[in-house]
Amino acid sequence: MARSQVEAKTQPEFRERLREADPELAGLLKKELARQRGTIELIASENFTSRAVLEAAASVLTNKYAEGYPGARYYGGCEVVDEVETLAVDRCKTLFGAEHVNVQPHSGSTANQAVYFAELAMGDALLAMKLDHGGHLTHGLKVNFSGRFYHVHSYGLDRETGRLDYDRIEEIARERQPHLIVAGASAYPRRIDFARFAGIARSVGARLMVDMAHIAGLVAAGLHPDPVAVSDYVTTTTHKTLAGPRSGVIICKQELARNIDKAVFPGLQGGPLMHIVAAKAACFKLAATEEFRQRQQQTVANAAVLAASLQQGGIQLVSGGTDNHLMLADLTDIGITGIEAENRLEEVGITVNKNPVPFDPLPPTVTSGIRIGTPAVTTRGFREAEMEEVAAIILAALGRSVTGADKKRLRRRVGELLASFPLYPHL
Ligand SMILES: *Cc1c(COP(=O)(O)O)cnc(C)c1O
Repeated sequence: MARSQVEAKTQPEFRERLREADPELAGLLKKELARQRGTIELIASENFTSRAVLEAAASVLTNKYAEGYPGARYYGGCEVVDEVETLAVDRCKTLFGAEHVNVQPHSGSTANQAVYFAELAMGDALLAMKLDHGGHLTHGLKVNFSGRFYHVHSYGLDRETGRLDYDRIEEIARERQPHLIVAGASAYPRRIDFARFAGIARSVGARLMVDMAHIAGLVAAGLHPDPVAVSDYVTTTTHKTLAGPRSGVIICKQELARNIDKAVFPGLQGGPLMHIVAAKAACFKLAATEEFRQRQQQTVANAAVLAASLQQGGIQLVSGGTDNHLMLADLTDIGITGIEAENRLEEVGITVNKNPVPFDPLPPTVTSGIRIGTPAVTTRGFREAEMEEVAAIILAALGRSVTGADKKRLRRRVGELLASFPLYPHL
């Protein structure tokens, strides 16, 4: 058939671009792309995924129902998506040295939910990190399902050092005899000793789940002590340091595989998002490359430079610094709150999030701190020199008596910095 004939026979919805079918929404997507291009992204949990992942995530695999697992589906026509899921699973196993992998969880929270569902009965004891010391809401927050369904005990950071105190965690575990211990955090700037956690879990007959949502990219690159070898379960997101699509994964020991798979489907989810499973497969392939490893190394190096520059400028960091991709600034000494800092930085084109510091006297809507991370800017191409300029802009924006003219000048510096680092030029 000639091209014009094909066009004439094609249904309009297979022809029209988004901007034709829905200009209103297309306009919003364009606006968001402009926002991402025009701001310095320092939210520690965010990243810019690759063009390859974007393509897979926007593919026709979104059309396919595939309840079940490869070779055992509840729908016909799964021969191709079976290959896709198997590819994702095999690549993830190789990347992390895993015995068993489930790539179907829709998000990090769902991955955690599935482990709890597989491992715990209602009311069983769970020991995890306090949210306001760096834990995640799925680690037992009262208004979260985890806080409602399970008996939650928590550990926090040492007031003096701002670090995990493993002896204290061991004491709490002895006292509380939890079924499951959760290690891992959303706002902890230091390495976590997962082997020590494993020892504690073993000593009280608990199972260990490591939630490596934030540091999965560093783990894949060999830049953080490995949780996979020492834990019963490891959960992760795929969109933070790992730089894949917005989603989740569960890794576990072979003897727990059947229970985990059953907990994900049919326990919690229906059909997997096969387009996102495909995007995860692409993400795992990219994460196994030398380029990815170097990028993670640069992410950590960039965080170290940013941390040192901020400290030189008089900003206190919880625990005195960082050894991963993020830092937690305690703004108490410079006399501004987390929300105020977030707003001021937003005005000059820098995106961060307010964050409680350990033992924060201010409510979570205000906070005394901000969390700052380097994954996204590093993916964009920033190196040490750019991080020094970012620190200088942050310090100026958070300084005393910043005028409107100062803000304009800082906004311009942000624009100049970003101009050399194009983002998705194909879009
Ligand atoms: C981000 C995060 C999650 C949850 O991920 P979502 O995909 O937002 O559900 C879980 N645990 C930790 C430690 C996280 O930082």
